[in-house]
Amino acid sequence: MRLLPEGGMSIERVQARIDKERERFVSDLVSVVKIPSISSSSAHKKDVLACADYLAARAKKAGFERAGVFPTAGHPAVVAEWTKKKEAPTVLIYGHYDVQPVDPLNEWTTPPFEPTVRDGRLYGRGAVDDKGQVWAHLLACEAYLAETGSLPVNVKLLVEGEEEIGSEHLEALLTKEARRLEADFVVVSDTAMLDRGRPSICYGLRGLAYFELELKGSSTDLHSGSFGGGVKNPLHALSEIVMRLKDASGKILVPGFLDLVRPLSKDERDRIRALPHDEKTWRRPVGIPATAGDPDFSLLERLWARPTLDLNGIWGGFQGEGAKTVIPARAHAKLSCRLVPDQTPEAIFECLDSYLKKICPKEVELTFKQLHGGLPWVADISHPSFAAAARSMEKAFGAQTCYIREGGSIPFVRTIADATKRPCLLLGFGLPDENAHAPNEWLDLENYQKGIKSCAYLYDELARLPRE
Ligand SMILES: [Zn+2]
Repeated sequence: MRLLPEGGMSIERVQARIDKERERFVSDLVSVVKIPSISSSSAHKKDVLACADYLAARAKKAGFERAGVFPTAGHPAVVAEWTKKKEAPTVLIYGHYDVQPVDPLNEWTTPPFEPTVRDGRLYGRGAVDDKGQVWAHLLACEAYLAETGSLPVNVKLLVEGEEEIGSEHLEALLTKEARRLEADFVVVSDTAMLDRGRPSICYGLRGLAYFELELKGSSTDLHSGSFGGGVKNPLHALSEIVMRLKDASGKILVPGFLDLVRPLSKDERDRIRALPHDEKTWRRPVGIPATAGDPDFSLLERLWARPTLDLNGIWGGFQGEGAKTVIPARAHAKLSCRLVPDQTPEAIFECLDSYLKKICPKEVELTFKQLHGGLPWVADISHPSFAAAARSMEKAFGAQTCYIREGGSIPFVRTIADATKRPCLLLGFGLPDENAHAPNEWLDLENYQKGIKSCAYLYDELARLPRE
């Protein structure tokens, strides 16, 4: 065990500098939120590239020794490195500079790429997801380097340009640059806190399995007078199938579906139950009269640690104006499952496929295929780096850190966790209601400032951990 003597005085100087520069940090973020780096739109390919170039140049200006744009088969990633402290641990920080599309544009109060401050919030696409969170790290490093000429840990900043479109080419880049990206800890800042004033570390993400189903009846649409009563209507067959996927309480009826679900420990259930989370407050902005789901589990357990099966779309038959007496030839559905450890997309496909084959009415033909999938992830929070990260947020926010899970997915996390076997720390500075992916996305500027402070404390805390 070895403790580094540094920290102490210098971290306090760095924090004082961060306090002084608060105003500039906002205008600095504005300059990158302005760039319309929408990864899903081919019309914005140049902007995505411009954003990568801007970020690499900005990282160099912040004091990183090396910063470059790394091409992939899709949009490039940016890697910036500061690795002068050979004896200290290395932190790999992940974020993304690409953003979601902006439509419906007319619902934005101010244009998405003209970032505007109102009531202590910065409005603009990408403000919280994820440019503001990338900037928190960039500016914390910059403050450290400017104040002390050094960082307490080695830092490798990996900022990708395809997170919003599934990180398709990230794994290839991680393989190709495996040596360059070697690290002792991985830090991801792309999540939200439990609530305002509740700094949070996320230690679990759900996976995903996405499917498409088609039922085929007759070779073409049929006259319902001439054929009605003699043929099975695929839309009815689909409805029968859908009714047998879940019962009214929300329990999934597919045999084998829950077999691989790792049961929640009593400790974890107690911890989740103790979190300050109010169901009514949660429900209000969602706009629903009551919550739904398996009554054997609490709302947070259902959102974070239980699998789902949801219809995402269902279509077929006549949907135009007026009446058309037709028996459609085909019926379709898209469905997806959020997965929890130790479920896999393949295992879920197998049990859904055999169940659907069994319950499908014999008068129609079933095609069922998997579109894409990703594995769930959960971390062992007993690793000392989690307590270090919790302390760093506590110092910045002046409140106790909550350990939370997240119902969505960040494909990178499971990939990098498997590849490096290193602890992944998900420190998010967003809020659940900041309209990520929706019109009027915003970032709470108080959290932004405290996020920058948390990052600086984090590097200091991680430098003090005993090396493994
Ligand atoms: Zn994001």
